[in-house]
Amino acid sequence: MSGRPSAGGGGGAARGRGDTPAVPTPTEFAGGDPPLIPTVPVDRCPLCGRSEFDGYAEGFDYELATCGNRWRFVECRICRHVWLNPRPADGSLATIYPSHYYAYNFAERVHPIAVRGKAWLDHRRMAAIVARCGGPVRRYLDVGCGDGRFLKAMERAGVPREGLLGLELDRSVADRLAAQGYRVDCARVEDSPIADSGTLDLITMFHVVEHIDRPREAVAKLADWLVPGGLLALETPNRESLDARLFRRTFWGGYHIPRHWQLFSTEGVRRLLTEAGLDVILVSYQTGHSFWLYSIHHWLRFGPLRTRWLAKRFDPIGALVPLVAATVFDKVRAALGARTSAVLVIGRKPAHGLPAKRGGVSE
Ligand SMILES: [Zn+2]
Repeated sequence: MSGRPSAGGGGGAARGRGDTPAVPTPTEFAGGDPPLIPTVPVDRCPLCGRSEFDGYAEGFDYELATCGNRWRFVECRICRHVWLNPRPADGSLATIYPSHYYAYNFAERVHPIAVRGKAWLDHRRMAAIVARCGGPVRRYLDVGCGDGRFLKAMERAGVPREGLLGLELDRSVADRLAAQGYRVDCARVEDSPIADSGTLDLITMFHVVEHIDRPREAVAKLADWLVPGGLLALETPNRESLDARLFRRTFWGGYHIPRHWQLFSTEGVRRLLTEAGLDVILVSYQTGHSFWLYSIHHWLRFGPLRTRWLAKRFDPIGALVPLVAATVFDKVRAALGARTSAVLVIGRKPAHGLPAKRGGVSE
């Protein structure tokens, strides 16, 4: 313990910097329905282990209304990492990830044109990652593999099916993939025996690390699974983006309250990888179109205007025109060098010996 009192420890509404007033409780969350769920305190920074922090943001489950709790993000005074404190107790996961959670059935719920657009963006991103592998990929793991679209894409690119591995916490999704012959383990990285040390050429982990409670342990285990020279590609929301700053107080879509437990800065992700012994070889920024839309949706729906009708026009599930507009907007900004709201960082396991000196990182 540091010996110093932590600013945010204990329950109750946190104060942000400058003692800003607490975020008001929308009537939808005030009446006991949806009910409160059990929580556990997280009084140590998941990145540096210290226990000195300040309030950063607070809010409710604006997106799915699975629970009535007021949630709070805190920021580490030492390393500036941001995390949800307290977080939902492990026994509440089935509540906050309901069966209609969109990540489980993305293709069935989103407009077909949006699905095709996303497939194109995914393809480009994977091609950029594979191009950096420096050799053929024989064994590939996708953490949080969902419906298996990246496993199938890599299979089409020539990776044999027996070399395709997935981790997926949703049992029915994992079973469906396993029935198709893919090796999918329904377990967290920290608990899974799916790979042996030094056996994987490539691991991807897209929008997963922000959902877990011990990111350092998870990334250290992934790094151990890589062959020397193997790559870990990790993508997560960037809490330093324009939309994150505009909607920082409560409505930013990237908060995904209470399912996002870690909010990284670019420096935080770099630190996560380098402390696991990986050399960071690429930092790039991806579009955050759904974060823009959810931010605007939440603000319209639960902010001062409280307009359900207009908010609905910005729900990323079904709202094609704003989705395309937000994607183009972020694509243009990213091309001009802006740090948009998803950051992709690729780390390479050193071929031998200690990690090379930093430098030569493309950004
Ligand atoms: Zn810290």
